[in-house]
Amino acid sequence: MASFDELAKDWIGGLSTYEPGRPIEEVARELGFDSAADIIKLASNENSLGPSPLAVEAIREGAEAMHRYPDGGAFYLKKALASKLGVRPQEILPGNGSNELIEFIGHTFLGPGVNVVVADTAFVVYRLIAAMFRADVVAVPMRELTHDLDAMLAAITPETRVVFVSNPNNPTGTMVGQEEIDRFMEGVPGHVVVCFDEAYIELLPPGDQPDVLKYVRQGRNVIVLRTFSKAYGLAGLRVGYAIAPEEGIALLNRVRQPFNLNSMAQLAALAALGDDEHVAVTRDLVQDGLSFFVGECFRMGLEYVPSVTSFILVKVGEGRRVFESLQKAGVIVRPMDGYGLPEYVRITVGTADENQRAIAALSEAV
Ligand SMILES: *Cc1c(COP(=O)(O)O)cnc(C)c1O
Repeated sequence: MASFDELAKDWIGGLSTYEPGRPIEEVARELGFDSAADIIKLASNENSLGPSPLAVEAIREGAEAMHRYPDGGAFYLKKALASKLGVRPQEILPGNGSNELIEFIGHTFLGPGVNVVVADTAFVVYRLIAAMFRADVVAVPMRELTHDLDAMLAAITPETRVVFVSNPNNPTGTMVGQEEIDRFMEGVPGHVVVCFDEAYIELLPPGDQPDVLKYVRQGRNVIVLRTFSKAYGLAGLRVGYAIAPEEGIALLNRVRQPFNLNSMAQLAALAALGDDEHVAVTRDLVQDGLSFFVGECFRMGLEYVPSVTSFILVKVGEGRRVFESLQKAGVIVRPMDGYGLPEYVRITVGTADENQRAIAALSEAV
């Protein structure tokens, strides 16, 4: 009998898997805490305020109808997003998290012989998806842990199909501004799709949010990704969306499973989209928490990467050891050795109480 390994396509066994954080119940038990409530999780850039209450209510009301298949076209969600963003519903495609849309981009544009251009310390999923479709990765060094769009432009080859720009970027928390984006877009050749991943955009003060939707409206080869996982607090439901010219959306739509977005997720996203107050309160909490972290890093003499969004990279020396020591104190952060930044940990901004506890533990650990 042939082994599974022999039967599988030969590059599958060589793919690396994304390592998600462990369930906090598990961590709590292992470390001897009474319950998961004693642990604070500042590891995955989730919304520490929780979901919009309107989203929770919408699921409660909609739960009775879960024997029905969802609306495979996500009609109401697309319509609401289109009107909020000033585009047409045909220019939007919801996905099972924006990560699913990155995979659709892979299905649609990537294969052997083509490459993707990414920044070397950008969101790791772009590389994982490129590998899954056997495309090459051109990793461009960042400048001060910020996307260097001039260098990325220069790195484009005739084989390049997609350039990914995570803005603001995870895990560095840095952002490129309108001027750099516009200069980059002026130079991008016609054979390349530019994907702007704006997972954290709603957490910026509205005046600071760069406008890349104008390129969608101009019909450029641009795909903008957004998500309900961060500012809207719906990470567990898995809802993201792409905004692109109609022709691009029609292609991505062809590689989609008919019911990729479950009905609870559609109801909750629709409700959350109308809850501007929840987003505004979240944004204030994030900005206050960032200022607190920055002040405390300064006080402790710790270097950090100036962040515009809901997490911050702090230079702690041995990141892995500090991660473990924080975990023993019930504070879960993210070590960064996997990103080639072994001296750093990434800390998500939490509630004021959580931030205090995190800093107290950090100050013990370093
Ligand atoms: C969190 C995050 C996402 C969101 O992914 P979902 O699949 O929508 O939860 C996307 N891109 C980046 C860079 C992120 O940090």
